[in-house]
Amino acid sequence: MNANLQTPIDYLKGVGPNRADLLRSELGINTYQDLLNLFPNRYIDRTKYFKINELSQSNSEIQIIGKISNLKEVSQKKGKRLVANFIDETGSMELVWFRGQKWIKQQLKIGQDYVIFGRINMFNGTFSMAHPEMELLQEHEKHLRSAMQAIYPSTEKLSNKGISNRVIINLMQELFKECNGKFKETLPDALRQELKLIGKSSALFNIHFPKSTEMLSKAEIRLKFEELFYIQLQLLIKNLIHKSKIKGLTFEHVGEIFNEFYNTHLPFGLTNAQKRVLKEIRADLGSNAQMNRLLQGDVGSGKTIVALMSMLMAVDNGYQACLMAPTEILSVQHYNGLVEYCNKLNIRIELLTGSTKTSSRKEIFKNLENGDLNILIGTHALLEDKVKFKNLGLAIIDEQHRFGVAQRSKLWHKNEVPPHILVMTATPIPRTLAMSLYGDLDISVIDELPPGRQPVKTVHRFDNNRLKVFAFLKEEIKKGRQIYIVYPLINESEALDYKDLMDGYESVVREFPLPDYQISIVHGQMSASDKDYEMQRFIKGQTQIMVATTVIEVGVNVPNATVMVIESAERFGLSQLHQLRGRVGRGGDQSYCILMTSHKLSNDAKLRLQTMCKTNDGFEIAEVDLKLRGPGDLMGTQQSGVLNLKIANIVKDKQLLQLARHHAKKILTDDPALNNEQNKVILDTYRNLSKYKNIWNYIS
Ligand code: ADP
Ligand code: MG
Repeated sequence: MNANLQTPIDYLKGVGPNRADLLRSELGINTYQDLLNLFPNRYIDRTKYFKINELSQSNSEIQIIGKISNLKEVSQKKGKRLVANFIDETGSMELVWFRGQKWIKQQLKIGQDYVIFGRINMFNGTFSMAHPEMELLQEHEKHLRSAMQAIYPSTEKLSNKGISNRVIINLMQELFKECNGKFKETLPDALRQELKLIGKSSALFNIHFPKSTEMLSKAEIRLKFEELFYIQLQLLIKNLIHKSKIKGLTFEHVGEIFNEFYNTHLPFGLTNAQKRVLKEIRADLGSNAQMNRLLQGDVGSGKTIVALMSMLMAVDNGYQACLMAPTEILSVQHYNGLVEYCNKLNIRIELLTGSTKTSSRKEIFKNLENGDLNILIGTHALLEDKVKFKNLGLAIIDEQHRFGVAQRSKLWHKNEVPPHILVMTATPIPRTLAMSLYGDLDISVIDELPPGRQPVKTVHRFDNNRLKVFAFLKEEIKKGRQIYIVYPLINESEALDYKDLMDGYESVVREFPLPDYQISIVHGQMSASDKDYEMQRFIKGQTQIMVATTVIEVGVNVPNATVMVIESAERFGLSQLHQLRGRVGRGGDQSYCILMTSHKLSNDAKLRLQTMCKTNDGFEIAEVDLKLRGPGDLMGTQQSGVLNLKIANIVKDKQLLQLARHHAKKILTDDPALNNEQNKVILDTYRNLSKYKNIWNYIS
């Protein structure tokens, strides 16, 4: 190597101060290294030239050799456009510029042979190309041609300022020249041989200047693997450091209360998945490191009982435990589900939410501090400073999507020694994403539903079939079943959504009249007590139909409800649809989900509906969701930084990610401090990465 890759980009031949500033601001290129890691979006065949009479609208980006025969400025509504007539021996077409005309006009040479490159459009019956990339033929012939020419990411500003793709290619060539085409290897030889990965220099050369499609694909695999490998390595090292630094509370034994519950009160046999997850949690709690675990399980997979049994382990060892849920309804439901067991076991459990009365609040605080209270269930109220535990041993957070990382750490600071943390989510995060996002959390998965559950049958119906749908609902009600009808109220303040809901409610009331039918309605504009009253009527079976907005999305448990009708289903996201569907199919009876839509459907909406009809598997649905929405959107913008990958793609390169994680893990297990000679390149690369990229910013 000659040039140091940390050299500022300003020093590269061909980069003046102006270009350096543009490269920095537009593409984030500060150094040689950054330019080297500017990977092409795609490649085009630059050995092929088209004739004008061969053009068709289906041509995407092509190149043509010809001359400019004349040039004129045409006035348009706003400003002017510059139009050139471009000819070859077979015909003529137009070249058009909307911006930077003055500069372009000065540059263009009428009558000389040019090679133009760009996208073909048809405009008023004439083929045209807007803002073509142009080069004089004699210049063009000096360049090396390759069947695959890289097309780099660009911005409007860059192309306006004359930094075309050609310029980037020239800079890249210059960079390779200064470095003699040799770059430091960043993966150990043994690993490369085992996985048949090509060397770094060859990979970089072929990604920028592919010799063949075969070499290009080898280059891609090598560079993607490397990128994923180092991300995984960083996450795993962070996890190791965490485990060695953060001492946890050690729960020495599985005790009497746990065993009594397991042997006497557990109303069903645990599924194998539940058993496995409990073992994983038990192992964490028994080690002397703090547990930091994510428990994923689809709706209805039985996370609550796992939570309870984990809390019993804490109580058995003389510690307190808490369970925090995102909404009042959910906390109440958890509390109601658990209080009976706790009474039988003679342990004390309380509920704390925003609406807990001051007097009981005081009582709770007192018993929490003196240790009389074993388990506390509640909402965000648990995070208040006034809530002081005597010795919190385990904190469980349900539905983690709604709590931020900051809140996680707030719980954590409630003790001198941090409590063990278990985060439960029913919105499955695709495994691949979880791996790259939560490398710092250990992951448990309940991938099995309790026996006897019949999968919910899902169908898609158009609005004009509503009468048939109503007839079906009547049959179900005749059988004694209950029904949800859900309307989108994406934004609670949106008047239009609210009107849809009320119109819908009225039509349901007309179709299902008193006294034969009783209907509940729940929406966000009602007071908490009204909501609760209506909800309770439905839970007790006093009403047969619940018309609601998405307030019921999370956690409500009415096993007798067998039909979920979702109105304007095209407006819901996949994970929301899946959550809603999870409200039915909770009892032994066959349940149904009916997705109602108009005929106007976007392609994405169609795919969402098809996916829902095809599968009940939350993980499969999450994968489709990820493909449709992209990882950043799925996880919220603040976390998408982790997925700011340069070359790998979290959706498409799943297998490579798994492979990378496997090998990173194996290497760290054998050599945690990366002291072995053969791992020296890893240690060096890793140090460089942490020095220059500061990955810690976005994963901690
Ligand atoms: P979720 O994972 O959605 O929180 P829950 O914990 O609410 O699921 O469980 C859903 C229902 O399944 C509850 O009624 C629960 O009692 C029941 N359940 C949980 N585990 C089992 C099991 N192993 N066998 C039978 N029923 C179970
Ligand atoms: Mg639950």
